[in-house]
Parts: sequence; structure tokens; C-alpha cells
Amino acid sequence: MKIQGIAAASGISIAKIVKFEPVTILEQTEIGTTEQELAKLSLAIADSTIDLQQLEVQTAERLGVSEAEVFGAHLLVLQDPEYIGAIEALIQDGSGAAQAIEAVQNQFMTLFLALDDEYMKERAADVKDVSQRLMRKVTGTNESLSNYDEPTILVAHDLAPSDTAKLNAEFTRGFITEKGGKTSHSAIFARSLQIPAIVGATGILSEVQSGDIAIMNGETGEVFINPTAEQLKYYEALEQMQLEKRHSLQALLHEKTVTKDGHHVELAANIGSLNDAKKALQQGAEGVGLFRTEFLYLERDTSPTEQEQFEVYRDVLTVMGEHPVVVRTLDIGGDKAVPYLNMPKEDNPFLGLRAIRLCFANEELFRTQLRALVRASSYGNLKIMFPMISSISEIRQAKQWLAEEKEALIEQNIEVSDFEIGIMVEIPSAAILSPVFAEEVDFFSIGTNDLIQYTLAADRMNESISHLYEPFHPAIVSLVKLVIDSAHAQGKWVGMCGEMAGDSAAIPLLVALGLDEFSMSAPSILAARKQINSLSKEALQEKLHQTLQQSTAEGIRAIWHQKNLAT
Ligand code: PEP
Ligand code: MG
Repeated sequence: MKIQGIAAASGISIAKIVKFEPVTILEQTEIGTTEQELAKLSLAIADSTIDLQQLEVQTAERLGVSEAEVFGAHLLVLQDPEYIGAIEALIQDGSGAAQAIEAVQNQFMTLFLALDDEYMKERAADVKDVSQRLMRKVTGTNESLSNYDEPTILVAHDLAPSDTAKLNAEFTRGFITEKGGKTSHSAIFARSLQIPAIVGATGILSEVQSGDIAIMNGETGEVFINPTAEQLKYYEALEQMQLEKRHSLQALLHEKTVTKDGHHVELAANIGSLNDAKKALQQGAEGVGLFRTEFLYLERDTSPTEQEQFEVYRDVLTVMGEHPVVVRTLDIGGDKAVPYLNMPKEDNPFLGLRAIRLCFANEELFRTQLRALVRASSYGNLKIMFPMISSISEIRQAKQWLAEEKEALIEQNIEVSDFEIGIMVEIPSAAILSPVFAEEVDFFSIGTNDLIQYTLAADRMNESISHLYEPFHPAIVSLVKLVIDSAHAQGKWVGMCGEMAGDSAAIPLLVALGLDEFSMSAPSILAARKQINSLSKEALQEKLHQTLQQSTAEGIRAIWHQKNLAT
């Protein structure tokens, strides 16, 4: 059987399917006698203890002792007589095991979180994790996103960024979702893991079973379920060819990125963690063009402290050495929700309290991040970038708060270094006003993921209008050109950190336009280097000239010999 979706991250994968279908545990559980429920609980405790002991050992071996500490903390919760006693008491009173665990989880979390103490907040997170594990055990549900230990293709209705952050990176060979667009954050995440992703595969959940074998082709969006021997042979050969191609690119690892006519550009990586920074260097990155710091805020129950953030920024800067590191301040909202921030539900979250707007509304949250960044500035080549800027007053306010925090740290004799300040150009008003913004900042980074959705009014998450989400639209090309020209007119540099920067179809056009820095998922860097080193900027000017006279995306694609793969 073949299912067609939208290609979102390239690569071939052949593996077993695991369906991710979250269930509401409490709706699904039947309650037995008190003895049965107590027995379920004690079995769940025994099972979880074994799991956690194994996880502690494996993590210590793979990642280090300090990374494994969390599982030790979880084991302590499991042995805590007050926690377990409270669950048992509720079961004695007639509750089911799952309901009792959930009630005690909520009780403990409310208590711990109310204390407003960092240590107790961490304990609240431990209690939640342990309780969730116990609930899965007593109900026999296996909806954990990381609960598989063989190569797996994940099939889901949708994956939120917080889901993708939980994926078992070691065994996930790809994912396929019914919803989502090419630049949704889960697709971006897949590219950074170097696994294929297909979105918009409508109806796939009802067509497949967990355990089915699938071939997924992230280049074409095709999925073959329980393929024939011939199909398997063909795709195994294709997979092999891709591996060899990737291998041959290693020769470019330490090369410069420079066109045949001597025009240098910088190839940087988009990262979300310290680990990503380390991997980016191994994949040929000449810097970090976008550090999505919001990933530090996901998958936890409280926001990271100034010290925690400082340590991450310091370590990323240290790892990257002389290379530039563009750190983007918090971009929460849109498709990235953070439950503990109690964000109001919005009808149009992408047009709502997102990114810098949310930061201005949560002054202490924002200032904490700014302080952590300034404190880290002396450890490397830091550049600070603000997201979702739509007006001059916003950048002025952000710069003022940043200057105030810097001043305060200097007064405390904390060592700080100078750093560049820039904005994401991802809202049309910022692109149109780029000549004015260029006087306010040191650099721009064009966020095409949002710039395209806001300019063309085409939701980046919505598969049904993905044909309208078009990087080669003349309006997009002319905004990109305007931003680059306005920055250059003031002697400022321009990068691009939206997915368009790593798209081989768009790279020659962006070189022709004079983009200075291309920031992309790290696994795309070497292929981009090979491509750019084979181009001549001068020779592309004639094509650029023709491009600027086109009135349709088709006309522009024809000049660059590119098909629209989105449709
Ligand atoms: C963008 O909008 O292009 C961008 C890089 O930011 P994000 O994808 O995180 O919204
Ligand atoms: Mg954006």
C-alpha cells in the first residue's frame, strides 16, 4: 500500500512503525477490588524500579554520571513512604490505582510548586515524571514517545515541539504525521536529527498498525506500507547510495565556503542545545546562526534559572570558540506552548502573544534571560537576536532592557564583553522597514519560515494550503532582496535562518542576492558547501536580473530550473 504525504525532511528509512496515539488514561481504566488495585500498584513500582535502575546505568555510560542523576532522584521518589503511602491510602478508600497516583501527583506538585523554591520545583518535576511512569504501568498504556528500543518510524496525528523533544533519538528513524507543514517545528527537528520526515499524510493512522514495516522517502513524501521484496531491494539500494554520498562530503569538512569567483559566505547551524552545538562543529558549521533558546524552557515544570541558562550559553560559546553564535531570545507561543507560563488560549496563536511580545509581558522572565546572556558574553563570540520584531519601538525597548542588565552586571564587577545585536526579520513590516531597522542593529537574520507565512497569509502548519506556502513567490524574493540591500547599504551583515537557507533549490538565488550567512540544520551544511563552491556569483547575476522581472513563482522557478515539490 502506498500513502502520499508532503516531503518535510529528506532521506530514506525502512523500519517498523510505532503509532503514537495519546490516550486519556483515566477514561480508559476500569477499577478492580482494593486488593487488585494495590497489587497493580506494587507491580508498577517493581517494574519502574527496574526500568529506572537500567536507565541510570545506561545514561551514565552513554552521557555521563551527572546526566544520569535524574533517574537516581526518580528512584528516591519511588522509595518515599509519604508518596507511596498517600497513593495506597487513596486506594484503600476506593480509588483505582491510576486515579490515586494522579491525585497524589497533583497534591505533591501543588505543594512543592507553591514553595517557590528551586529545589522543590525540581522535586515537583521528579514526582510528575515518576507518577506518569507509574500510571502508564498500571494502565498498560504505552504511549510514551521514547518507549521503543529498536529502529522505529513514528506515525502520529501531529507532533508538538515538546513531543519531538522527548523522542528517543537513538532509535527514531523517521516520522510521519497526518498534520503539519514543511516548516513546522517538528519537521525542522527531524532535519537536525538527520532523519526523514513526512507531514500531511492524511488518514495514515487508520491505514497502518504498529509493527507494520514501512519505507518512507523523505524526498518525495511517499510511504510504502508492508512493501514488496522488489520495493525493499530498490529502497535499500537507494538508502545505501545516500549514505555513500553523505560519506563523500566529509572531504569538505574543513574547507572554506567560497564561490568559484571568490565570494565568501558563512555556513552556520541552527541549534537548540549544547549537544547540537557539538554536533554542528562535527558537521562543518562555521558558527551558529540561530540558537533556539526556547528548547531550554520546554519539557520542564518551571523556567530555567539564570544560572542554568548562563551555564548553557557559556558552554555553547566555549565549544564554538572563535565562531560566531547567534542566540535568539525566547520565542515561545505559536506552536510552542509552555504550560507553566499559564499562557492564555488564543484564537490565532501565531498572531498572538508570541516571542518578544510574550517577553515584554513577562518582564522578569525576559530580564533573567538577558542577564544570563550578558554574563556569558565573555566566553566567546556572542551575538544576541530578538525574534518577531514588528516595529522600531520594540527593538528600542529590547535594546534598552539589555543595556540596563548589562550596566547592572558591570556595576557588580561581572566581566562582560561587547556583543552584536540583531533582529529576526520574519514579519513583513520589519522587512519593509529594513532601511530604518538597519540603523538600529548590527545584523539581520531573515526568518523565512514565518516571513513566508505572514506575507502570503499561509499557515506554515497547515498541510491543506501548503501549495500556497511558496519561497519563490515574487513577493518573498523581493522582500529578501530589500532586506539584504538595506543592510548592506548601512554596512551591516545579513543571514537567513529560515529553512529556505538550507534548501538547495534556493541557495543559488540567495548567493546571487548577496546573502552573507546561511544558517541551516547541521546535516545540510556540507552539501550546501559543495553546492556553493561550485557556483559563480557573478555568473548568476543574469538569472537574478530575469528573476526580478517575474510576476509568478512558476516564472522564477523556471529560471532556476526548480519544480515546486510542495504540491
Ligand atoms: C523562522 O521563522 O524562519 C525561524 C527561523 O524561526 P522559527 O522557525 O523558530 O519560527
Ligand atoms: Mg520564526
